[in-house]
Amino acid sequence: MPEPGHGEVLLRVAGCGVCHTDLHVMKGEVAFPTPGVLGHEISGTVAGWGPGVDGLTEGDEVVCSFIIPCATCVHCVRGRDDLCIEFFAQNRVNGTMYDGRTRIYRPDGQPLAMYSMGGLAEYAVVPANNVFRLPDGLPLVDSSILGCAVFTAYGAVRNAADLQYGQTVAVYATGGVGSNVIQVARALGAAQIIAVDVRDEQLRAAQQLGATDTVNAATEDVTARVLELTDGRGVDIAFEARGLPETFVRASEAVADGGRLVAVGIAEWRATAPIEITRLVRRSIRIIGSYGARTRTDMPAVLQLAREGAITTSQVITRRGSLHDAPQLYSDLDGGRIVGRAVIDQA
Ligand SMILES: [Zn+2]
Ligand SMILES: [Zn+2]
Repeated sequence: MPEPGHGEVLLRVAGCGVCHTDLHVMKGEVAFPTPGVLGHEISGTVAGWGPGVDGLTEGDEVVCSFIIPCATCVHCVRGRDDLCIEFFAQNRVNGTMYDGRTRIYRPDGQPLAMYSMGGLAEYAVVPANNVFRLPDGLPLVDSSILGCAVFTAYGAVRNAADLQYGQTVAVYATGGVGSNVIQVARALGAAQIIAVDVRDEQLRAAQQLGATDTVNAATEDVTARVLELTDGRGVDIAFEARGLPETFVRASEAVADGGRLVAVGIAEWRATAPIEITRLVRRSIRIIGSYGARTRTDMPAVLQLAREGAITTSQVITRRGSLHDAPQLYSDLDGGRIVGRAVIDQA
């Protein structure tokens, strides 16, 4: 049972999303210390808190984002929680909180690294500035995915792409994050949303979430098809949500003059992709990276979209399991056998 320190909240975890980023760590494609506890997309109920925390009641239903802002570094001070120096330097490198210590230990006292809050567990400790009360009427377990899949999609669409009402969009890879990019783009007024994936069932799911057109990259010439669907213009914004050099290049080819390529998918360490320079220059095309979103300002916005029914969590979730099923769910995610999102359900 982890103990909340000053400014921290103890949560009984209800839902934890099964995310590709955890898988990257498990497979050694992203460096992270071991032994550690993964799981960074959680919802839960308040079970206690440390000194300096007020306004919470035991049993409050809450969600957390995967980016825990320190609130004091140069980036956090100007509202860029997505760039928090402490988060990357301490949590993502050492698996600790910002006093250099973890909050999770084995019964014999051995420290365990925590990936974000270490949410694949019965309890988690989270700083109070990353604890957001769930609006009434939203499902507790399913709302866990608001904290990474939806949060990341919101950051990509709202902050990086700066989507304007009526613009056209293509989403390359429509899994956990991609399917939510579709939802958020629809909610924020995209006129046309082209879903690109290699699995037909994933494309059918994308249509239900608001994709207006679908392209199967395994059987069709993706770039030719996207250009055809946009009368030869290409899309105002192409989102790359897979993190593969090949997909990155394909997405860049579909961007209209003056448009943006937004990269959301984490690639293997040091992967690169060749992009046509002259077209980029002449046609004023921008390439923008987007990691997560700005916790303190964007989590309330994400919760508002969910509260209004502009986005759904339950429709994206297609698999559920207990904590003991986690290895199987991650292995199914690795094998491409999960449509949308799977969650660990401990409610
Ligand atoms: Zn994630
Ligand atoms: Zn910071």
